[in-house]
Amino acid sequence: MSTTATAKPGFDSQGTQSDEQRVDAAMRSFVREFGVTAALHMESCVRCGLCAEACHFHLVTRDPKYTPVHKLELFRRAYFREASPFAPLVRALGLVKKPTLAELQQWQELIYDSCTMCGRCTLACPMGIDIAELVKEARHGLFKAGLIPERLALMDRTARQWGSPATPAEDLPDILAEVAQEHGVAIPCDLPQADVLVTAAPAELGDHTKALADAAKILNRIGAKWTMHQGGFDASNIGFNNGDLELQERLTRAIVDTALKIGAKTVLLPECGHAYGAARWEAARWYGAALPLRIIHMTEFLDEQLAAGTIRVKPIGDSATFHDPCQIVRRGGLEAAARRVLAALGLELRELQDAGVAGICCGGGGGVVSNLRAAPLRAKVFELKKAQVEATGAQRFVTSCGQCRITLEQGAKAAHWERKTESLLELVADNLIE
Ligand code: SF4
Ligand code: SF4
Repeated sequence: MSTTATAKPGFDSQGTQSDEQRVDAAMRSFVREFGVTAALHMESCVRCGLCAEACHFHLVTRDPKYTPVHKLELFRRAYFREASPFAPLVRALGLVKKPTLAELQQWQELIYDSCTMCGRCTLACPMGIDIAELVKEARHGLFKAGLIPERLALMDRTARQWGSPATPAEDLPDILAEVAQEHGVAIPCDLPQADVLVTAAPAELGDHTKALADAAKILNRIGAKWTMHQGGFDASNIGFNNGDLELQERLTRAIVDTALKIGAKTVLLPECGHAYGAARWEAARWYGAALPLRIIHMTEFLDEQLAAGTIRVKPIGDSATFHDPCQIVRRGGLEAAARRVLAALGLELRELQDAGVAGICCGGGGGVVSNLRAAPLRAKVFELKKAQVEATGAQRFVTSCGQCRITLEQGAKAAHWERKTESLLELVADNLIE
């Protein structure tokens, strides 16, 4: 951990900026983020408290500091001081104080450790305030101030160098060759031309290689002309989670530019929620126009192939419950697609008490799963999910995001809960009809 002489113990900091420079960097970023929409949101909160009942971190702790609107407090103060219509008067009369470094450091916990940017509070807010989006914008300021959790900062530095937080691009051909050999499936790499550019999440190149091999199995089965490519292969986009906009743009461009270079009409995203948020919904902002290719999540791909009859699966016949990944379902809109795939698998779906767009987050999104400091809080959120899963009585527990799976598996291990979290992709691949 890089700590300056003034950094408060327990909070991480990066770089060598002075206290004043950190506060100024954060404030400059906040002010830049206050477009018309953010300003409207800042002005319209009626303090009704409904968002508090939506947030899993507040639900499991009942600690007022975890209420969603409180997480925006410094952002709100910065707005009224620097960007609101009465900002000059507010400053002249000293009505709202400039945030201090100590406050920014404490805020790190609220913005990074106890917000997964899941958007459940956004759904609950009667004023339509997109708290998850505002938290994301607040992260941009804390990143500029060098005040993010060190574990995320480490991944950021690695991704800047390697194009992935876990895998150097030059290692990709060897890794894919090993995965191909281990699972007995062909995985093309660096083809100069292909119709589909396939991307991965970091775990699929490490501990979860079966998911990657399963994607290859299905793509090969349908006769797709596809490839993975060193130019752009990791879709998880750590910049999106960290608040590092420059890295987010660079990683997004790497994927889209590589796809265009090889003539791909489709970019296939892995079972990863934040990949979907970053690539599907934010890529066009850097191109200034609709992208000339499709970017689809693995769930959409499976759903389309099953509907077209290019793949068929044998019915499993058990009952199952499904964890809806926030970025894919609530923020991404793919609620029905996953359910059609489950139905094709012949699984009797027993919905969780909170399901679909109202689903409760796994507790690890937005980089929280990689933030060791947040582990105790994550464990409490897991208890909520565990109780809902048990209440369904379902035989299987399925999801469509690898990061959710890792979070839920970690939670199960810590709680000595003997339930496996299964991947929708792996269920399809394991039950393909020859
Ligand atoms: S986005 Fe999710 S985690 Fe963040 S405050 Fe809202 S409900 Fe809580
Ligand atoms: S639900 Fe919306 S209006 Fe109500 S307190 Fe939360 S942010 Fe403010």
